[in-house]
Amino acid sequence: KLHQTEVVFFERGMDDMFAQLMDMEPVLKRAFKEDQFVLYLQPQFDFDHQQLCGFEALIRWQHPERGLLAPAEFLPYIEQLGLTETLDTWVLEKTASILRKWEQQFAHCWPIAVNLSAQQFQHFQLIDQLQSLIRKYQITPGSLELEITETIAMSDLHNGMSVINKLRTLGFTVAIDDFGTGHSSLAYLRSLPISKIKIDRSFVSELQQNRTDATILKAMIRLAHGLGKRVIAEGIETDDQQNILQQLGCDMMQGYFYSPPMRIEFAEQMIESELEAGREPLRDSLAAT
Ligand code: C2E
Ligand code: MG
Ligand code: MG
Ligand code: MG
Repeated sequence: KLHQTEVVFFERGMDDMFAQLMDMEPVLKRAFKEDQFVLYLQPQFDFDHQQLCGFEALIRWQHPERGLLAPAEFLPYIEQLGLTETLDTWVLEKTASILRKWEQQFAHCWPIAVNLSAQQFQHFQLIDQLQSLIRKYQITPGSLELEITETIAMSDLHNGMSVINKLRTLGFTVAIDDFGTGHSSLAYLRSLPISKIKIDRSFVSELQQNRTDATILKAMIRLAHGLGKRVIAEGIETDDQQNILQQLGCDMMQGYFYSPPMRIEFAEQMIESELEAGREPLRDSLAAT
């Protein structure tokens, strides 16, 4: 009897999910058509030079009734409805158009990192798509950084490595996102031709309570530097966290302490004040090491 109830409950649960998904389909399609998605840019800070060194593009949905929605609230629907490619293309086009505008407006270009979905990374046309993108917008490949999560990079190593190799050859910067949360073998990390490692926020947020995390962070940074890769810490929220990370030799930081993700016009204001203070984009943030 109990078993039966569970089955019924389960089935109803599935129905609800399915119904919800079906409800979402026209809403999301309209969102694309009516241009309701927005790119926010979160600034990144370089410790050695004590200045802005780039941005990460983070998508938001300006929902007509529910307000500004974070990716966790809609990316799962996008994925299940098969709209990932549409979204990915939108993000890449939007980012490229910002870079193009900056090159013209500021005569300098601060790099922007985009998050690649698993589907995008595994798509056989990714390289072609990126090449036509840089041609269309006339941007330097070095100003577009591609973030791939550790899990995606490791899921199909043979293919992954050849894709990353091609991206690097074309001059794109490749960063491993959420580093430390997957299960990458150090040997593989060594052979992945990436330039940057983004230490996951979870390691940073535990810093104050848990002294052992400083040891882990120190080892991660050492390892990355030993392999010739630059390190950025995600989710820095306090002065203490910033100080510890800097002391441990971390190269860059990103987090609410420096700046939350912001609308493009605010990012542009930030660039303007950097330029007014005589600070230009850093060469090593663009260099394909
Ligand atoms: P992610 O790439 O690891 O992005 C970092 C997330 O941490 C962002 O959440 C950012 O807003 C948040 N964050 C930044 N600083 C802090 C901090 O100091 N404290 C805390 N608590 N959080 C901080 P967001 O924007 O909600 O994005 C979540 C995830 O959604 C991203 O994780 C990324 O995996 C995915 N995502 C976002 N935009 C895109 C996109 O355009 N395409 C794809 N495929 N995925 C995206
Ligand atoms: Mg990211
Ligand atoms: Mg991350
Ligand atoms: Mg340093």
